[in-house]
Amino acid sequence: MEPHARSYYAASANSFADQPRLAGNETADVVVVGGGFTGLSAALHAAEAGYSVVLLEARRIGWGASGRSGGQMIPGLRWGPEELIRELGRTRAAELLALANGAGDMVRQRIARHQIACDLRSGHFHAAAKPAHLEAMRRELECLQDLLDYRGASIVSRNQQAEFVGSQLYHGGMIDPSGGHLHPLNYALGLAKAALAAGVRIFEGSPVSRVDHGTPVCAIAEAGTVTARFGVLAADSWMGDLEPKLARMTMPVVNYNVATAVLDPDLAQRLMPTGAAVSDSKFVLNYYRLSADGRLIFGGGEKYSPRPPRDVAEFVRPYIEQVFPQLKGVGIDYAWGGAVGLTLNRLPQFGRIGNSFYAHGWSGHGVLLTTLAGDLIARAMRGQAEQFDLFARLPQRAFPGGKLLRHPLYVAGMLYYALKDRL
Ligand SMILES: Cc1cc2nc3c(=O)[nH]c(=O)nc-3n(C[C@H](O)[C@H](O)[C@H](O)COP(=O)(O)OP(=O)(O)OC[C@H]3O[C@@H](n4cnc5c(N)ncnc54)[C@H](O)[C@@H]3O)c2cc1C
Repeated sequence: MEPHARSYYAASANSFADQPRLAGNETADVVVVGGGFTGLSAALHAAEAGYSVVLLEARRIGWGASGRSGGQMIPGLRWGPEELIRELGRTRAAELLALANGAGDMVRQRIARHQIACDLRSGHFHAAAKPAHLEAMRRELECLQDLLDYRGASIVSRNQQAEFVGSQLYHGGMIDPSGGHLHPLNYALGLAKAALAAGVRIFEGSPVSRVDHGTPVCAIAEAGTVTARFGVLAADSWMGDLEPKLARMTMPVVNYNVATAVLDPDLAQRLMPTGAAVSDSKFVLNYYRLSADGRLIFGGGEKYSPRPPRDVAEFVRPYIEQVFPQLKGVGIDYAWGGAVGLTLNRLPQFGRIGNSFYAHGWSGHGVLLTTLAGDLIARAMRGQAEQFDLFARLPQRAFPGGKLLRHPLYVAGMLYYALKDRL
């Protein structure tokens, strides 16, 4: 079976027994395609609702973005409340943000309930890369407080920011205790163990080549099929391979992460004194946090050709040194990449094809929203689709250009925003 990417997470993964390949024909109430956070959460919530569930994963549980991510639990959506109110009106924006901002509690409850050892820590600091970004954060927070009675988060001035991040690069920011960070692969493996305990049949090494979305749904894999009442497509960056009609709706963009050598504890404490995760407000952002054993896990950099850099560690290093000059020449023990599924407007896409549900395009906000999505999908199966439909009715736009032009046009757009970041 295809191994995990050689990441810090794979090297510090909790034990998880290999699951069998699908061989033969199975029936169930629900067939889930994809064993990342979305598929695992949907499988677990559906099993808890009394459905029999089969989950098919092409490689191994957590192999995709879920097992490689920065692990940052970033509250909310990529759109702030003002933008959402403009697009959706006040009532829908409030309902949507209440759900999105509640996803952190849902993840915490799952971790507590299943005793998932995944190094959970609270606190997310959104660092303002420009003075204007701090002002925008202040307005957004006031709007959120007015809309949702959202308490806890607060604006941090440039003078106070050393409490959260030992970098001179920023102009203050926003600290939100409802955010945080975790070991993403161990969270995925913990969800998988909970799903197995709830009766879900998991098959690894079982790529699905086609799904018929009729009555019944039928997922066709190399050496077997699963026939079910409902399907769940949870393949995110690979969704277009499975359902070509969705291919133009998302763009897989590879992002690179590193884990440094274990830092001196005093130095680590000065870099991020409260242990909160940090991400900055640039369009092409840097995001980082400390691991449980005191490494800096850092994601950043722009790479617009699909070919990976020859040396991922040296590709990411300048971004670390720009944020933390005190880490010049730091040892880097692990370096890896993964595909982030982006949508054109950076909002996730939920929908249905026949009797199947899909949810994807998390645009870098998937650690929290995916667990919520699994719950909403399972509710929709039971006829309670209002909240699923709230997401399904979000504006969805295809990337311009056909299969050939889609990526060059996207690169042109990204270069424009990367240039704006630098001005
Ligand atoms: C480097 C990186 C850093 C990130 N950092 C953050 C972060 O800090 N915070 C945050 O919120 N988000 C972050 N993200 C995004 C987040 O990780 C994803 O949004 C989230 O994990 C998506 O989960 P998923 O289950 O939808 O998809 P995935 O985890 O990608 O799972 C999809 C699974 O489907 C399987 N699959 C695909 N096709 C088939 C098929 N035909 N048959 C069977 N199985 C199939 C794949 O093998 C894969 O395991 C990051 C992503 C990356 C890559």
